[in-house]
Amino acid sequence: MTSVTFPEQLINGYRAFLQGRLRAEQDRYRELAQSGQSPEVMVIGCCDSRCSPEVIFNARPGELFVVRNIANLVPPYAPDTQAHGVSAALEFGVMALKVKHIVVLGHAQCGGIRAFAEDAEPLTPGDFIGNWMKLMAPAAEKIGPRGSRSMAEYLTLLEQENIALSLDNLMTFPRLRAIVERGGIALYGAYFGVATGQLSVRDPVTGKFTQVAAEDYAQLFAQPRF
Ligand SMILES: [Zn+2]
Repeated sequence: MTSVTFPEQLINGYRAFLQGRLRAEQDRYRELAQSGQSPEVMVIGCCDSRCSPEVIFNARPGELFVVRNIANLVPPYAPDTQAHGVSAALEFGVMALKVKHIVVLGHAQCGGIRAFAEDAEPLTPGDFIGNWMKLMAPAAEKIGPRGSRSMAEYLTLLEQENIALSLDNLMTFPRLRAIVERGGIALYGAYFGVATGQLSVRDPVTGKFTQVAAEDYAQLFAQPRF
């Protein structure tokens, strides 16, 4: 008999899932297993362990179709012989699941973006990360050099411009572009403040990010502590 060791933290987490979410959602899981998933929202987020879209949006099973990668990047359309993870997920989300909304979810304190901004040494000898982060170059070009801006200010700008870049790159996929242009799919940019818990959404005209559910947020922190 072989014994498999599995991280205790995960087993305990699974136990909590059994008692909590599975107990509450078992019918929904069964239903989804039979009928298949049909999420209306696709999220393209960062791998960062603090930015789980399902947690931030309090999503139930079957509600979000999620693809995550370092710095929530969407590479431009490139129909070559390479394997493209994001493009494959997009194709499935758009063509098979027929999602109605695509959200690019960026965040504060993004390690990938900081590495790019600081021009850090590649983190791995194979340098997958360095090559991947090069996709961000057009966003950095757009906001220009750091100049007199503080590093924090510059990083926020870059994180937010990077979301705009991913949105632009989504429009390089011809079929997706056609669907967006006829109103079948809406694209959004959103930004999560890890330290604050604030969520902001990008105005497609001005490019500015504005906090959503600001009143709820303000109320939460206005309550007396005792
Ligand atoms: Zn990140």
